Amino acid sequence: MTAARPLFRAPPDALDAEALRRDFPALNQKIHGFPLAYLDNAASAQKPRAVLEAMTRFYENDYANIHRGVHELSQRATNAYENARKTAQRFINANAADEIVFTRGATESLNLVASSFSRAFLREGDEVVITELEHHANIVPWQVLAKERGVILKPAPITPGGSVDAAQVEALLTKRTKLVSVAHVSNALGTVLPVADIIAAAKKRDIPVLLDGCQAVGHMPVDVRALGCDFYVFSGHKLYGPTGIGVLYGRKEWLAEMPPWQTGGDMIESVSFKGTTFREPPARFEAGTPPIAGAVGLAAAIDYVSAIGMERIADYERRLADAARAELSKINRITFYGPRDNHSPIISFNLEGAHAHDVGSILDRCGVAARTGHHCAEPLMERLGVPGTTRVSFAFYNTPADIEALCRGLEKTREIFP
Ligand code: PMP
Repeated sequence: MTAARPLFRAPPDALDAEALRRDFPALNQKIHGFPLAYLDNAASAQKPRAVLEAMTRFYENDYANIHRGVHELSQRATNAYENARKTAQRFINANAADEIVFTRGATESLNLVASSFSRAFLREGDEVVITELEHHANIVPWQVLAKERGVILKPAPITPGGSVDAAQVEALLTKRTKLVSVAHVSNALGTVLPVADIIAAAKKRDIPVLLDGCQAVGHMPVDVRALGCDFYVFSGHKLYGPTGIGVLYGRKEWLAEMPPWQTGGDMIESVSFKGTTFREPPARFEAGTPPIAGAVGLAAAIDYVSAIGMERIADYERRLADAARAELSKINRITFYGPRDNHSPIISFNLEGAHAHDVGSILDRCGVAARTGHHCAEPLMERLGVPGTTRVSFAFYNTPADIEALCRGLEKTREIFP
């Protein structure tokens, strides 16, 4: 932070980002001669040493395949995996650990629900309501279903400000609506959706609601029981955990009625050529050898962010993103997408006269990692009338120095594209 231009004043009880960033080895490097300003956290977050060490410890001491072994290592690994489930349960305040299904990521969680829930509960002519701002992972599984099974996919429009109006979601609900599946937070715009109102509208009609929490869980407290949602999905890697692990939270009543998705391995109760029986959830949905070390890493990540406190993370990131937006507003001919209020620490913008990919490349040369393009939300980009945007997304380890690096990079872009 320069003395002349304080971007951001944190309250005394704010987290100490400078100290926390030292927990993340990857942040301590230069890119093209500049200190790395990592602002691509919505795509994936960096990993604290606590996560890396927990996984190494696990592989070095306790690793074996789980559940089927009577030997010591298998039991230790099973305990670690099942304890990780309890950690995830507590983190989002699920009622029971059995309501936590480990998957390979949010995309798999969404595909699991689309495939399994639909076989149990959706018939031709039934409807699934989403919104226009969904990530492809919460569009395409439903679209495939629509094509194959005659299910009708109804996207609620976004408002001109890049948000979603719960009343417009409600207006789409009919007797044939069997599921509302919406983002908790938009990955492309940072919009925090009015999920409480959307859930209330759905509940009036006994319609279950799935929330795609990929961009929420790492940035705000999430309580699935307080929210009252029926399903909640997220990926470990955006929550400072490893890749290859994700969570599907599903209320027991739903999971119990849903058929297996993938089959084989751990989800089996017994097999004969007369027929096969399946285990109860969550095992029923965890076919094959699961991402065991991934679960251990995810639990370490959850412990790590919980020790900082999700409220404090939310508060700090909010202040940081507001400061960044105020600074970016000073740049000539910049257009922001998404709401000014009620947003997560994601800022999406374009510089008139400069293609987003050029902006991203110049930022990279200045040591700034930002993301450019459609952010896997092409229908949203179409609605906004742009091929893509530049997106910067903050984490609690970002500091005002990262904002300054970003602004310097954009000033450089303006020199090249005046
Ligand atoms: N939904 C949202 C809102 C996301 O941001 C992402 C990741 N960009 C996904 C779903 C898919 O997550 P993953 O690629 O980890 O499966």
